[in-house]
Amino acid sequence: MPDLHDRRAIRGSYVTFRANPFDVPTQDALVLEEDGLIIMEYGHITHCGAYSALHGLLGDNTPVTHYKDSLISAGFIDAHVHYPQISAIASWGEQLLPWLEQYIFPTEAEFANINVARQTARLFLAELLRNGTTTAAVYCTVHPQSVDAFFEESARLGTRMIAGKVLMDRNCPPYLQDTAQSGYDQSAALIKRWHGRERQLYAVTPRFAITSTPEQLELAGDLLHDTPGLFMQTHLAENLDEMAAVRSLFPNHTSYLDVYAKAGLDGPRAIFGHAIHMSEHDFAHCHHSGCTLAHCPTSNLFLGSGAFRLFDALNPDRPVHVALGTDIGAGTSLSLLATMGEAYKVSLMAGDTRLSAAQALWLATAGAARALHLHDRIGHIAPGMEADLCVMDPNATPLMAQRNARCTSLSERLFTLMVLGDDRAIRATWVNGKMAYEKNVDPA
Ligand SMILES: [Zn+2]
Repeated sequence: MPDLHDRRAIRGSYVTFRANPFDVPTQDALVLEEDGLIIMEYGHITHCGAYSALHGLLGDNTPVTHYKDSLISAGFIDAHVHYPQISAIASWGEQLLPWLEQYIFPTEAEFANINVARQTARLFLAELLRNGTTTAAVYCTVHPQSVDAFFEESARLGTRMIAGKVLMDRNCPPYLQDTAQSGYDQSAALIKRWHGRERQLYAVTPRFAITSTPEQLELAGDLLHDTPGLFMQTHLAENLDEMAAVRSLFPNHTSYLDVYAKAGLDGPRAIFGHAIHMSEHDFAHCHHSGCTLAHCPTSNLFLGSGAFRLFDALNPDRPVHVALGTDIGAGTSLSLLATMGEAYKVSLMAGDTRLSAAQALWLATAGAARALHLHDRIGHIAPGMEADLCVMDPNATPLMAQRNARCTSLSERLFTLMVLGDDRAIRATWVNGKMAYEKNVDPA
């Protein structure tokens, strides 16, 4: 249990949002406080603004950490990632379905052993913090103990995490199968144990339509509607062979998305990973039902799945919530900075609209929080918000320092960070009002 009773403050340049940069020009969306002060107490931000205006509130006993030549942001939010797959990152040579068979299922089988789950959860969450990520929507494995191990470590760190047990009752190796009923029962027990306990949130997690029977999807829908505030996460329209398999397994549905919608798995707090091969009808359905699409550019490039049509998804006539995901182990970096850089490139592959640095940062912070209905708690630097922050170093490498010296605007500085930056550019990460990671300092 973290000690929340210490009042602390950090001083430095910070950036946050006052509006959505997809709706208004960058200068109207971003707030930059060049010499800012953020005061935190009981895990929340109590004050933030110009140091000159606020330093009188500090008193004698508030420790202040001063980050010079840095840029502080709300902690990053990763909307799609698989913690058990961290050991299978960078596996060569396959597209989605054979990649799952050859690399992922054998790796996930190891999580029957609680010690493997605990050790991996610890490494994974430490890696998130090293990358400035303070909230993630995380797939565990089919084993309930993989979820316990993950939430135990997250609760120890005090991080706000979303996670769930993978549901799979067909088309996977027998050693990874549950049944519709056992998956329901195990999920219900985990929801009772973890959902809303301190900062932990549960996501009902059918892997995807191929590995769940219609009965399992129906029961997943029941779980979702039995407990208010639950999340749902699954994969959607990632790969053409996957799309063909779904069509043959569910011949009476109008689309891949329709398979989930008919089971009651759409709606607010439903997070669909990838959504590359979407029809206009699918986008409109997501808009009306309030779903979130998790755009995972490094994964889509690595597996050759295709280019997500970001600006099509965000069409102002029927905008769909979009957040960014790293999708480890198909993704190639846990860094949201690196993922923002790849999202910029993929947006150009998919069309001729350029993603701005402010828009990319929005997708990784405030926009993701809004998509996940957590914007009253995370994603902004503002009084009352939970104090999850990342401190970026625009001069983290000699090359970045060289480039940063020529930057003349905040947008340029942010763009350099997202194109050249990764874990090296994260100087510190604060969670729940306390420093949880500091570069070049061994973890406690
Ligand atoms: Zn995934």
